[in-house]
Amino acid sequence: MTQTGIDNLANEDRSFEPPSDLAAHANVTAEAYDRAASDRLGFWAEQAERLTWDTPFTEVLDWSNPPFAKWFVGGRLNVAYNCVDRHVEEGRGDKVAFHFVGEPGDTRDITYSQLKDEVSKAANAITELGIEAGDRVAIYLPMIPEAVIAMLACARLGAPHTVVFGGFSSDALASRVEDCEAKLVITADGGYRRGNPSALKPAVDEALVKLGDRSPVEHVLVVRRTEQDTEVTEGRDVWWHDVVDSASPEHTPEAFDAEHPLYVMYTSGTTGKPKGILHTSGGYLTQCAYTFNAVFDHKRDTDVFWCTADVGWVTGHSYIVYGPTAEGATQVLYEGTPDSPHKGRWWEIIQDKKVTLFYTAPTAIRTFMKWGDDIPAQYDLSTLRILGSVGESINPEAYVWYRTNIGGDRTPIVDTWWQTETGAHMLSPLPGVTTAKPGSAMGPLPGISAEVVNDEGQPVGNGEGGYLVLTEPWPSMLRTIWGDDQRFKDTYWSRFKDMYFAGDGAKKDSDGAIWLLGRVDDVMNVSGHRLSTTEIESALVSHPTVAEAAVVGAADDTTGQAVVAFVILRESAGEAGGTEEAIVALRNHVAKEIGPIAKPRQIMVVPELPKTRSGKIMRRLLRDVAENREVGDATTLADSSVMDLITAGLKKPA
Ligand code: ATP
Ligand code: MG
Repeated sequence: MTQTGIDNLANEDRSFEPPSDLAAHANVTAEAYDRAASDRLGFWAEQAERLTWDTPFTEVLDWSNPPFAKWFVGGRLNVAYNCVDRHVEEGRGDKVAFHFVGEPGDTRDITYSQLKDEVSKAANAITELGIEAGDRVAIYLPMIPEAVIAMLACARLGAPHTVVFGGFSSDALASRVEDCEAKLVITADGGYRRGNPSALKPAVDEALVKLGDRSPVEHVLVVRRTEQDTEVTEGRDVWWHDVVDSASPEHTPEAFDAEHPLYVMYTSGTTGKPKGILHTSGGYLTQCAYTFNAVFDHKRDTDVFWCTADVGWVTGHSYIVYGPTAEGATQVLYEGTPDSPHKGRWWEIIQDKKVTLFYTAPTAIRTFMKWGDDIPAQYDLSTLRILGSVGESINPEAYVWYRTNIGGDRTPIVDTWWQTETGAHMLSPLPGVTTAKPGSAMGPLPGISAEVVNDEGQPVGNGEGGYLVLTEPWPSMLRTIWGDDQRFKDTYWSRFKDMYFAGDGAKKDSDGAIWLLGRVDDVMNVSGHRLSTTEIESALVSHPTVAEAAVVGAADDTTGQAVVAFVILRESAGEAGGTEEAIVALRNHVAKEIGPIAKPRQIMVVPELPKTRSGKIMRRLLRDVAENREVGDATTLADSSVMDLITAGLKKPA
């Protein structure tokens, strides 16, 4: 028995061809793969022409000091000018940039010329607060237009931002503010969550008290959103409406080097302590703009795009704030949760705003599966033409549900694999080109080089499992981990020679399609078989009673590790779904679907699963539960009460 790679258990033979009318008018055709393969750097130089440069670059890539890349050497540009001003200058000032929908039902349409004024005013106000190019700014806001405006204002000033998810605690905020030495924090009194105003500003105050003398923060800029009582520290705190609203809408954007830092984003922390990922300007914006155009087949005159991610996650950076605006898109920005005030809220928004391109995460799709098909069926979703998925592998069953119930069995699904570190899409089908298989991210986009390799770094195929690597640098790659070049090298560039190690397991099937199998850290070793979490979870989700599943390897005397599963049942399963017979049937279902070796030793029915803010399951915490240990660091959980809910439920006498 070899210890190499990961076992291949699942076999999925459904596939969906691109709709012929979409293929006939697609922005990107199969030719792009050939073009990029014959001259990768020339291809990216062409894509960089999507941007407006103050000074043209003289070299596409400087890779003389790997793994430290420099893209578009010598080029100078202003990112915010590219995302905002130039659309106004080119006569698109009246085009809606954002249809904002607040959770309580307030709406606000913001055109590109209004966005230009707002960003300029914010840039002037932030300058008045002492921020200069190179200074860091922390942004801790709900999903309101000011979040986008604040980010673009920082970009305009060349002041790298670090956005901290509004659901995080004061501890998480404090550690990020300290790590990147932010001089300014931009926050709000609060935001709306499930019908109620929830406060944000007190967490900022707490974080700054905790940091005490170590606090690098000089000012706190506070947006009024909920009008709740808010403490103001004289001399330090200022209201957005006092300083931004009265600022001049005239602001001349300065051009910065292509490699000027744009932002630091901390990873989700699914597998451990978050890493401060540094992204820079020219290469990042080029790849965000290109992939947005190619993967969503974005048509500026007719499409309405909605990405449901929070701006506190990289997806919100690349596919709300930077990529779509660089391409002049019209977008929906929604503040709240999908079930407030009712479980059809998202579909209602799609119907109202006539959304054509929709981008969300598998975790959300499984939640909708749990709630039932009849909810989306009440809305007119016929404007949709492409659906996207990001964050985890999408279980084939969830894929088919999404395509059928949301996409009317008409829309292609783009399953986009990428990471905070990669900055933009890396693997994905192209909607007008690729015949896509449910559960597979298919392959690298034009201009991207990826492989699946074994322990020795040799490519594998025909369903063999291994590790996903990127074999050539790409424009939106991370440049380092903030303040820690050594950790950057150790984490990503030392596992294999001259290749970027993504940390994800993968397999390549006989057609060359790539299937992500879950984190390498989460691979289970059962009697010498290396099993992927993804395949077993998908087998569980393919059972009609199961909405969501998480599996972990727990220590086992006979098999080394045993598969332990946590499942959330669909509402339609009722009480019967959780009986002892039902659990036995579920275990047998996994054995039948993908093999006896994968049969869970134990299945626990739970009301919720521990997830990061981006909806990723934190399996390491479930491993603690399965092995009866004290639960580890849960600070990056979206909802920290979930672990109590799970452990309390399991302690119930059987
Ligand atoms: P940390 O690195 O701190 O543990 P994280 O990896 O969860 O956090 P992100 O950068 O938000 O932080 O997530 C990237 C990861 O998400 C990928 O490495 C992969 O495991 C998973 N992922 C994202 N998209 C897909 C996809 N389409 N298919 C499969 N996995 C995906
Ligand atoms: Mg990661």
